Amino acid sequence: MKFFEPTMDPGLKDGAMKSHPITPRTTHEGFQSTTKSTQEAIINGWGRTNPTRVQLRQPTTTHQLQQLLSSSTIPVTVRGAGRSYADAAIGRSCIETTLHTKIRSFDSDTGIIDAESGTTLQDLHHVSIPAGWMLPVLPGTSHISVGGAIASDVHGKNHVHQGTFGQHVLSLELILPTGQILTMSPQTHPDQFWATVSGMGLTGIISSAKIQLHRIETSYLRSTQTRTRSIEESMDLIKASTQTSSYSVGWIDAAHSQLRGLVEISTPAPLHALPGNLPGGKLAPRATKMHTFRSLPGNGIINQASTKAANTLRWHYQTNPHARIVHFTQALTPLDKTDLWPAAFGRQGLIQYQFALPTVSEKNIPSIFHWLQSIRTVPALAVLKYFGESSKGLLSFPQPGWTLALDFPAATPSLKTTLTALTALDKVIAAAGGRIYLAKDNRLSAHMLPLMYPHLQHWQTIRSEMDPEQKMDSLLNQRLNLSGMHS
Ligand SMILES: Cc1cc2nc3c(=O)[nH]c(=O)nc-3n(C[C@H](O)[C@H](O)[C@H](O)COP(=O)(O)OP(=O)(O)OC[C@H]3O[C@@H](n4cnc5c(N)ncnc54)[C@H](O)[C@@H]3O)c2cc1C
Repeated sequence: MKFFEPTMDPGLKDGAMKSHPITPRTTHEGFQSTTKSTQEAIINGWGRTNPTRVQLRQPTTTHQLQQLLSSSTIPVTVRGAGRSYADAAIGRSCIETTLHTKIRSFDSDTGIIDAESGTTLQDLHHVSIPAGWMLPVLPGTSHISVGGAIASDVHGKNHVHQGTFGQHVLSLELILPTGQILTMSPQTHPDQFWATVSGMGLTGIISSAKIQLHRIETSYLRSTQTRTRSIEESMDLIKASTQTSSYSVGWIDAAHSQLRGLVEISTPAPLHALPGNLPGGKLAPRATKMHTFRSLPGNGIINQASTKAANTLRWHYQTNPHARIVHFTQALTPLDKTDLWPAAFGRQGLIQYQFALPTVSEKNIPSIFHWLQSIRTVPALAVLKYFGESSKGLLSFPQPGWTLALDFPAATPSLKTTLTALTALDKVIAAAGGRIYLAKDNRLSAHMLPLMYPHLQHWQTIRSEMDPEQKMDSLLNQRLNLSGMHS
């Protein structure tokens, strides 16, 4: 068996291994993560909302994580790469895992990778892609941590085929609030495992995970982008594509009366389909460095008029009906090069409203758009995906049917209208058997939660056994009373 051998660093104790170099990330505007162990910082969600002054610790070793957690006298929030949109990874006392990034082992025969929780998905791919292995589930960004991917049980554009990230985790090490390490798998500790997968960081700190990767012949996809004249046509195309293709996603022109759009369908490109002169060869990880932008002044440039104009341009020019070969990062993680998108919304950032709706209620989707148009609350971005079976994660978001992610400015002259509309939509979504994605949410009310997450009570029971002193916390938990302990 061929193992990836991480280099030993003589300066590290206990046989600790050196991680791949990681670029310091900006966790909020103007603030750079450093190796300092404790600092006061203002952090926010990726949508640039919820700026909060916190105590931030950035340990490197499992031992340090254990000590920090067990010795803390106040509630602790665990934070990965900070790519959740709002308040899920924010709390008064944050332990961030961005320096806990060793890849402990990688077996290129079996495709099993064992990595510390702060390792980003891009870092995993840097090691695995050249050997012909890829993550089976990749969300819209690869700049997230393994811990964050498990805690939100993230999904990709291939949910129908591959389910969620947590379904590919073979086992994980969780640091309980006492500091004890519990090694768990779906077989050994099913309750604790599925409470931690999708548990939004409230059962303890994931220290590392073993993940089963997926064999690939090349790191390229055969991709088509088809223009549609209505949302019904997009939905038909996406649904039909699940029979033949691996990945599908729809962009909807939410400002258009017929809700025209673009549907991108991709499938792995076999070796014989590749041209001979690809940079990096057939298995290129192709890392993308994130360029960070300051928020544009004031309310930025996103408004109803600019959305309409940009959508028209996109629909007319960004189409490619003939299959072309693209690197997987181009089709699956197109936003990974810059964070220009949240910056464009100005200083107050953006609200993303992502909901899931069962297939039987799919008729509600066009009606929701038309209603938003009628009250002049058109989302700046609308992305549509189709989901398959749910995972066993007790708070996992995906359920069979559709998901729509809608971006709205968090500061506009009509913010109040937007918030009132979304509150009304919450009720429609819940009544139709759907739910809101916790990793994106920053405005849902606590009383809606049990209506949307049927396993909430079961999760709360398991969680309170794992964290009887309620040490794990976050602003999300306080706002939604996820744990059931905030009255
Ligand atoms: C551009 C963009 C596109 C996205 N596309 C998708 C998508 O297609 N599908 C999808 O599902 N999501 C998507 N997301 C959301 C993102 O994948 C999730 O929010 C993910 O959880 C972020 O991971 P993170 O490492 O940044 O975690 P953070 O944002 O830091 O934390 C997220 C949650 O995980 C918990 N957590 C983090 N680390 C640990 C740990 N070590 N132990 C226990 N809990 C932990 C935190 O407490 C928090 O509750 C997208 C986000 C962005 C910015």
